[in-house]
Amino acid sequence: MAGAYHAETFTADERAVLARHVSDVDSPVFVLTNLPQVTSAALFARYSRSAKSLRRLLLDEFLNSGDAGVAPPLAAETGKARASDLFGRVLAEYGDDSVAQLAGVHVACEQVSQPLAKAIEWGRLAGYLEQSTRYIAYTDRRDGHYRYHRDPELMASSHGDDYTAALDGLFDTYISLQGPLRTHLDATLPAEADQAARRRAVRALTLDLLRGILPAGTVSNVGVFGSPQAFEQLVLRLRAHRLPEARAYAELLNTQLQGVIPEFLTRLDRPDRGGEWVHYLRETARELEGDAAALAPEREWAPDGVTLVDWNRDGENRILAAALFPHSQASEERLLAAVRPLSEARRAALFAAVVGERRNRRHRPGRGFEHCEYTFEVVSDYGAFRDLQRHRMLTIQWQELTPALGYAIPREVDAAGLATRWRDAVGAAEAAHQRIAAHFPQQAQYLVTLGHRVRYLIKLNAREAMHLIELRTSPQGHPSYRRVCQEMHRLIDEVAGHHLVAGAMRFLGSDDVHLPRYEAEARVAASSD
Ligand SMILES: Cc1cc2nc3c(=O)[nH]c(=O)nc-3n(C[C@H](O)[C@H](O)[C@H](O)COP(=O)(O)OP(=O)(O)OC[C@H]3O[C@@H](n4cnc5c(N)ncnc54)[C@H](O)[C@@H]3O)c2cc1C
Repeated sequence: MAGAYHAETFTADERAVLARHVSDVDSPVFVLTNLPQVTSAALFARYSRSAKSLRRLLLDEFLNSGDAGVAPPLAAETGKARASDLFGRVLAEYGDDSVAQLAGVHVACEQVSQPLAKAIEWGRLAGYLEQSTRYIAYTDRRDGHYRYHRDPELMASSHGDDYTAALDGLFDTYISLQGPLRTHLDATLPAEADQAARRRAVRALTLDLLRGILPAGTVSNVGVFGSPQAFEQLVLRLRAHRLPEARAYAELLNTQLQGVIPEFLTRLDRPDRGGEWVHYLRETARELEGDAAALAPEREWAPDGVTLVDWNRDGENRILAAALFPHSQASEERLLAAVRPLSEARRAALFAAVVGERRNRRHRPGRGFEHCEYTFEVVSDYGAFRDLQRHRMLTIQWQELTPALGYAIPREVDAAGLATRWRDAVGAAEAAHQRIAAHFPQQAQYLVTLGHRVRYLIKLNAREAMHLIELRTSPQGHPSYRRVCQEMHRLIDEVAGHHLVAGAMRFLGSDDVHLPRYEAEARVAASSD
């Protein structure tokens, strides 16, 4: 290839073989095709210890039948076996965990309770997709049971029937309230131009409002895409988890993963590696539990709310200095000294330059914005927490789920005259929780509803705050996390006094939305016309 890039010379035979495994035989950029994951990962790992190009490595070390010439493409299994052998050597030579970041696996995790889903989704370096409580009505029964987790030990105990009755009561109520609430919403919400879109939006709002009565034991399906390293961490984390369901699930995961990517997971089942790691996680948590009980044993009550507990006092100046840094040859200290004395108008103009002209919420300012951090303590319903926890850039820590902080009934449910039925079902579940928690403290969490409150800490930088707040206040968002994020925005503005940061979030959705899904549903209808 003429021009800036050298084109390596290959024989005609080599080109023919390569063509099956790379998207382009000449370009400096090419995609690996038709290779087992382990082969691709081992190849990449060899990059760092070899002067050869990747195509040459592929020919010489993976596809070549010997010194004499090029073999036809290897059957996937043979190639994999050779790669596995090489992978062991490469890994030993390379001596770094990052080789396990060079592959990716899609894993379906089905029938997981909400606390387990949160434990799975804790890992940052993976992509997740989970069944929605907004589009799935959770009304069906499987093997005669509603969709909730049935812990084998609990079910075999004398508390099994108590647990079943309480959870069935919640699901029965969830189902029986759907019709009347939908009728009430339909009758009371303003008319919209598109009747079909309005109907779908009313259905979604009904399910949104009723999800608060679903128990945390409700099971859903979670799709996970991640690297072998992410899955190794996941198995370790679940093995060390206090929830028996999580520990059992770790073994289900490990069995499947060992069948597909065993080369990457050799440490997991070794007592001196994976075993020690789990021990470390478990013991650290156990120790801290003791310390927390000794230092602050009280169960503090708190209402719904968001508190800004900490932030960078000089955060806006730090953003300005960090944004200028890559465009300058001065130190950060010098840049800070230059921006601190600026007049308000000059600072605002400079800040506007940092933010740029954002035409939509995906236009986000650069990483200079990551130099200002905020810590919020939030008390919200578990449903809102569950959604916000999906943001992997957050540092988010939460407390164990109990009914102690109470729950709120959506005002629409109250207005429809359905609050008493809600209260009765949740009251029965709380009573069962009290009886069961003494014997099964972990499994008792399943009886707590998505409407019960939980306390959590969120630490995030201004760039992620912009993403989180703008996304989660958008009109199609769930009302409960919309409120949390609107409040976070207000606190950044009024308590931190970061008017420039707050003002940069120009796609904040702050109006009261009466029918969250309507606009989106109407857009879908219009685009399919
Ligand atoms: C209205 C609404 C409905 C939703 N419905 C569903 C649903 O039905 N089911 C469901 O599962 N989720 C649903 N979600 C959640 C959504 O899919 C995202 O998981 C969640 O909002 C986190 O967003 P994020 O990935 O952009 O953010 P963060 O995790 O905060 O990440 C910020 C950005 O960093 C990058 N990033 C972070 N981690 C990775 C990574 N591992 N790989 C690649 N890039 C990364 C991405 O660019 C991302 O946008 C919904 C969200 C909204 C607002």
